[in-house]
Amino acid sequence: MPNAKPFKKQTLLAHDQRHENGAVSTPIYQSSLFTFSDYDSMIARFRGESDQPLYSRVDNPTVKVLQDKVAELEGGEACLAFSSGMAAISNAILSVATPGAKVVCINHVYPDTYRFLRGFCLRFGIETEFVDGDDPEAIRAALPGASLLYLESPSSWVMSEQNLIQLATLAREAGVTTIIDNSWASPLFQQPLACGIDIVVHSASKYISGHSDVVAGLVIANKQHIAHISRHISPFLGGKLSAQEASLLMRGLRTLPLRMKQHHASALALAKKLHEHPLVTDVYHPGLQPPSWSTLTGYSGLFSFAVAESVDIPQLCNALQLFHMGVSWGGFESLVMPAISVINQDSEFNSAVDFGVSPRLIRISVGLEDTEDLWADLQQALTAATHA
Ligand SMILES: *Cc1c(COP(=O)(O)O)cnc(C)c1O
Repeated sequence: MPNAKPFKKQTLLAHDQRHENGAVSTPIYQSSLFTFSDYDSMIARFRGESDQPLYSRVDNPTVKVLQDKVAELEGGEACLAFSSGMAAISNAILSVATPGAKVVCINHVYPDTYRFLRGFCLRFGIETEFVDGDDPEAIRAALPGASLLYLESPSSWVMSEQNLIQLATLAREAGVTTIIDNSWASPLFQQPLACGIDIVVHSASKYISGHSDVVAGLVIANKQHIAHISRHISPFLGGKLSAQEASLLMRGLRTLPLRMKQHHASALALAKKLHEHPLVTDVYHPGLQPPSWSTLTGYSGLFSFAVAESVDIPQLCNALQLFHMGVSWGGFESLVMPAISVINQDSEFNSAVDFGVSPRLIRISVGLEDTEDLWADLQQALTAATHA
């Protein structure tokens, strides 16, 4: 019997289709290639008349189950899974921007996306103009002649939200394709395709995995665009996801709604408390003063705050006991990263320097530990690191 109503996301994620022998978990097809039962079916596959799996660089049944689930979750037609978020991002960008193309990108973008556009793409004659994501007029002015508008909302380090509905409209009017990095919000807290954005990318290494044991990426778009990437880009760059890791991502998806609820509650509570703290000068959390046009329906666990000059940042990092120092975010464990580490990063192109991230900024990824314990840890570390 067909469903009267489509399932809610939590049901979609907790309820897998059943598999062979009644298995509730998708089998891991640990096979590089798939053989044909007869000559005709082999020829049909090469002619594109069948979708029997051929070779795991191109298609794998375990990865396909994940892709179908994620496409539905993002409200998109199709999805491709990659071996990292950067593989997803580079495939998506190169699927739109060809040599000679112009890209418009927000300035506080993920640092390796910045380097990809500033360095790698420029070598192929793809030029990027970086603009303030808060300034729709600047974006409107930059769009004529561009092929791609690249967004990341909220942005890296300063967590500033872009007006997706407005920017998608401006881009469409200018004939410009839009990509958004939706890793921060996850498909649960922001649905960019419904706002008119063309292509969504994720670092699935963050919330979608949630267990800090996978590096993976996803691209969601309409069928034609995913077919274009599958045919003309991804087979040659070769960065497809493995079946093992697809299985780990499906494990992560089952608890995504429960985890996001906790990250939302804990991080928002800590952001509000830090906002009141005398040693904290600024808090960068999109939930503290959301704009009226906000398209976020919840907030994840990553945000940043600036500390007063009297706080010694190295001492603060060393004094924290529950927040460990480390890159990445979105896992079960709480993490801390001072902005000074990326400001001092040895790299040719540095968005934190070029767009002025404050060296007083501290970024935390709020994990799944008890909120009161996390607050006590932040308080004791701020006190221990402060000098009159
Ligand atoms: C981590 C991250 C990426 C890159 O993803 P990987 O899985 O590390 O390749 C892209 N965008 C954002 C916002 C990220 O935080």
